Order: sequence, then C-alpha cells, then structure tokens
Amino acid sequence: MAEVFKGSFTQQEPIPEAGIAAAVEVMRHGRLHRYNTAPGETAQTVLLEQEFAASVGAKYCLAVASGGYAMATALRAVGVKPGDRVLTNAFTLAPVPGAVAAVGAVPVFVGVTDQLVIDLDDLAAKAHQARVLLLSHMRGHICDMERLMAICDAAGITVIEDCAHTMGAAWNGKPSGTWGTVGCYSCQTYKHINSGEGGLFITDDADVAARAIMYSGSYMLYERHRAGPPKEAFETIRYETPNISGRMDNLRAAILRPQLADLARQVARWNERYFALEAGLRDIPGLRVIDRPEAESIVGSSIQFMLDGWDGAAVQEALARCLARGVELKWFGGAEPVGFTSRYDSWRYVDAPAMPDSDRVLSGIVDMRVPLTFTLDDCALIARIIREEIGALYQSGAVAADGA
Ligand SMILES: *Cc1c(COP(=O)(O)O)cnc(C)c1O
Repeated sequence: MAEVFKGSFTQQEPIPEAGIAAAVEVMRHGRLHRYNTAPGETAQTVLLEQEFAASVGAKYCLAVASGGYAMATALRAVGVKPGDRVLTNAFTLAPVPGAVAAVGAVPVFVGVTDQLVIDLDDLAAKAHQARVLLLSHMRGHICDMERLMAICDAAGITVIEDCAHTMGAAWNGKPSGTWGTVGCYSCQTYKHINSGEGGLFITDDADVAARAIMYSGSYMLYERHRAGPPKEAFETIRYETPNISGRMDNLRAAILRPQLADLARQVARWNERYFALEAGLRDIPGLRVIDRPEAESIVGSSIQFMLDGWDGAAVQEALARCLARGVELKWFGGAEPVGFTSRYDSWRYVDAPAMPDSDRVLSGIVDMRVPLTFTLDDCALIARIIREEIGALYQSGAVAADGA
C-alpha cells in the first residue's frame, strides 16, 4: 500500500516551559504594558530588545506589534511619504506591498530570478524610480547582498530588509537585517520565534531608531529604552513624530526571550530537516531543487522546488496527488491567491505592469512549510511521496507546457 504522511504542516512546537513560566509571572504581577514597571524593574520588552540587538550586532532595537508594523514604521522612519514610490519584490507575501500601501506609497515591483531571489539586473534598471527599497528575503532566499548594496549605495537608495523568513540567517557571515538601514522581523506563529503576533525592528541609525520609538507609541517615555538611542536623538523629533501605536507588550516579550536564547539550536534543527528534504528531492525527473549559495547561512523553515515549464493543470494534478497522500504543497503560479500564495498581480491596488520573466518563474514555484514538529523520518517520507507522485506524473509525459 502507498505510504501516507499523517503529520500537520501548520503545527509548530509548544512554547518552551521557560517561556510559559515567564509569561505566567508577567500575568501574576499584571504589568503587561511595556512602560508599566515597578521601581527598579526592567520590563521584559526592554530585555528582549537588548538581547535581540546583541544577537545580531545591531545598535538599536524596538519590539513592536507585528512584522508588518515594523516594515511600515521603517518606511515612515526613513522618510517615505504618501505618493512616493518604493521598490520591492514581485515574489513576496502580501504584508510587504501592504506595508508600502499602509504609508500611502506605491510599490514598484522588482522581478524574481530562477534562484528565487530579487533580480539585481532588474533592480539596477529600476533604481532611478525610487529612493527606498523594501527588500524581502522571501522564503529565506538571500541574494548577493554585496552586489545589492553596491547598486543601492550608488543610486542613493535606502534599504529596508524584511527578515520575516531570515531571523537567524546570514550572508557571508553578516546577519540578515544588518545590511540595510533597517531590519524588520516577525514573531508571528509561523516564523522563527513565536509569540502569536509580534515584530522586531533593528537599526544602527540613531535618528531612525528615535523616530520608530516615537511612532510605536512611547509617549515621552523613550528614556526607558535600553536598546534605544541617547535622549538627544529625540530632541526635535519628539514634537514632529505622530504616535501610531504598535508597541509589543511584556507578555509576548516574556514568551520570546527563551526562544531567542535557543534560536541557534532551533536553526540547526530546521536545517537538518531542510537538507534531509532537499536530499530526498534531488534528481527527481521534472523537478528542480534550488541550490543554495555557499555564502548563504539559511534557516530552512520552508522549502521550495521548481516545476519549470509545467503547465498549470499538470501542477495542480501533481499537488492533488501529493495531498491525497498527506503532503500539502502550495503553488505560487495559481491565477487566484490561495492562503499565503498571492503574487504581484493579485495585489490589484497596485497598477503593476506585467513581468513575463517573473511570471515564468512564479508559475513553477512549489512551496512547503517545514515545522520543527516533523522528524527526519517524516522528511524522508515526504520526499519519497513527492518523488513517487511528481516523478511518475512527469514521466507519464502529460506535463510539459513548453517542452521544458
Ligand atoms: C509574515 C511575513 C511578514 C510580516 O509578518 P506579520 O508579523 O504577520 O505582519 C512580512 N514578510 C513576509 C515575507 C512574511 O511572510
């Protein structure tokens, strides 16, 4: 009988006991608001900010309500105004163009390569169109960051990094999120540390940090931030910066701190699973794995593979066959957004020109989450099922749309 996978692609691990205990302590004392502290007490939120800043080597860190809030705050803090154009990835998830729209700015999409990173030739060609790039390290794929920064520095473009999928990852040893002016992270359940909702914002720029703290709703209590800039940085901006509340609370910070302390171990566990899957998916006829560059230290919390040149009906047939055996795959090539798989032309509030080269790539991207609740045996089983179903379908000859 054919093997069936019984696990869940959306089940994360529980919150570690240390996080549960710390959360209960916060609930017992009742001071959940980050600025509500007893004499001599340092808020959990403040400690999380210090620890996160230290973990990536950033000068300043601000904990906020979500990754999307961190990105919109970053755009505001670097001076993006309504009507401005902001470069961003055509291949990303909806909160990224949504953050641009949240500040009244207009996304200009940059294409995706067949290695699933931003197309740097397209970026160079469009560099004159905007002063800011919101760069999404979508699904953890990191582009050549030296080249990207060279293009942006030459064009006077400020870079904001969306690190929702790269917390714990690096390019050439330098942490993702520290290349641009701001790094934005999400602490939502499907990311690398989990407080249900939450976000982190890092920068080395005192003015940008001060503005972000004011935006997040610090009232005039910014001196309580230990991972914030000196109070001189607030001198004028404190009068100019509106409060657009989006603070993180002490309960979430308490849950996150033990997870952050354990992140390196979790990254190693994700990567064991990722590379077990990758090994199992190699040399399947009709299927291409994405070779990860040497310079990239990844966090394999999801995996993508390509069905290059398959027609849409065949991809759907392949996914249906895998699903019948318990393997839930997502496809970025669908005409309609389903779950998280929307694409640049699904965001119809943006007047985006067609991008045929990116369309060709998007139409082949198959995506799978890799929760830590999977065992290595699970990963091997999933890869076997994909091999049997997708390999067989390809070899039946019913799949090639364009002879690929
Ligand atoms: C999840 C996610 C975000 C933002 O996260 P939220 O915390 O849900 O707002 C940003 N970018 C990408 C690519 C994401 O997947």
